[in-house]
Amino acid sequence: MPVKVESFDSLDGAARALSAARSARFLGGGTLLMRAVNDGDQSFDTLVRAVDPASRQVRSEGDGVTIGAGVTMAEVVAHRDLSFLAPVARVVGGPAVRNMATVGGNLFASSPYGDFTAALLALGARLELVGQGGRGIEIDEFLRDRERYVGSIVRTISVPRPRDPGAFRFAKVSRIKPKGIALLTIAAYLPQSAGRIRGARVAYSSMGPRPLRATAVERALDGQYLDAATIEQAAAVACDGIEPHTDGLASAWYRREVAAVHLKRLLTGERR
Ligand SMILES: Cc1cc2nc3c(=O)[nH]c(=O)nc-3n(C[C@H](O)[C@H](O)[C@H](O)COP(=O)(O)OP(=O)(O)OC[C@H]3O[C@@H](n4cnc5c(N)ncnc54)[C@H](O)[C@@H]3O)c2cc1C
Repeated sequence: MPVKVESFDSLDGAARALSAARSARFLGGGTLLMRAVNDGDQSFDTLVRAVDPASRQVRSEGDGVTIGAGVTMAEVVAHRDLSFLAPVARVVGGPAVRNMATVGGNLFASSPYGDFTAALLALGARLELVGQGGRGIEIDEFLRDRERYVGSIVRTISVPRPRDPGAFRFAKVSRIKPKGIALLTIAAYLPQSAGRIRGARVAYSSMGPRPLRATAVERALDGQYLDAATIEQAAAVACDGIEPHTDGLASAWYRREVAAVHLKRLLTGERR
């Protein structure tokens, strides 16, 4: 089936076309969508794209930074104001993928992808969708019911910048270095006040169909000093409430076994 491509010079124009079409998809960098086209995916017949410079902008505002959804991983790596996210973007695919793959597209990527989204989840990002009057939604809410937003366009992602850069930690676990697909990704935001962790957010990707919070780990960390005893307690509940899946990369059993090990390494600072 031929696929039609419609181009617009604004995200608003693209959003109108998407809502009028029966089976259209918004095209970001195309690293997943074009692969679907090549694989003969019949679930859409139109690709809608926008050449809107606003979707490629990065703005620093107060304690946060707002990233256009069309910003690529390579642009994240290169941008001075996004240095806290550079280690995350740097491990998404190889150079060719990073030159195309966008932050917006990563939000919709199914497991085993979504490394960048796990980091955004740990940091408590907020998304602005086209046509929502700038209201914005929490990334937790977006991920809870992500299918609902297929057909919407994410305009920007606002991310609080960690005051202490050491409070944000990230590890991608893959079997093939340096650019293998993750069998597990862990992102942790561990702000401290008077030496104790306050408001821990820990997220995994590749431990379920979409990036998710490790709430039992967060509870074990919150209010505690990040010492050996706390780290043991957090590792002991690494997979509580989480049902990892089996795929070609790893079994659910293996994911459960290694999650605690890698979480412990991340928390002790052995890996960042
Ligand atoms: C070889 C290879 C290696 C990869 N390695 C990794 C990896 O290591 N880690 C990782 O996380 N991912 C990886 N990916 C997956 C993918 O490249 C990334 O997840 C990427 O960020 C997807 O973004 P995109 O712009 O290319 O999305 P697209 O392919 O353009 O779109 C993907 C989905 O997102 C939707 N979408 C895109 N932009 C928006 C928007 N602004 N608003 C609403 N919906 C939107 C599309 O409609 C589509 O449903 C890899 C892919 C390949 C092919």
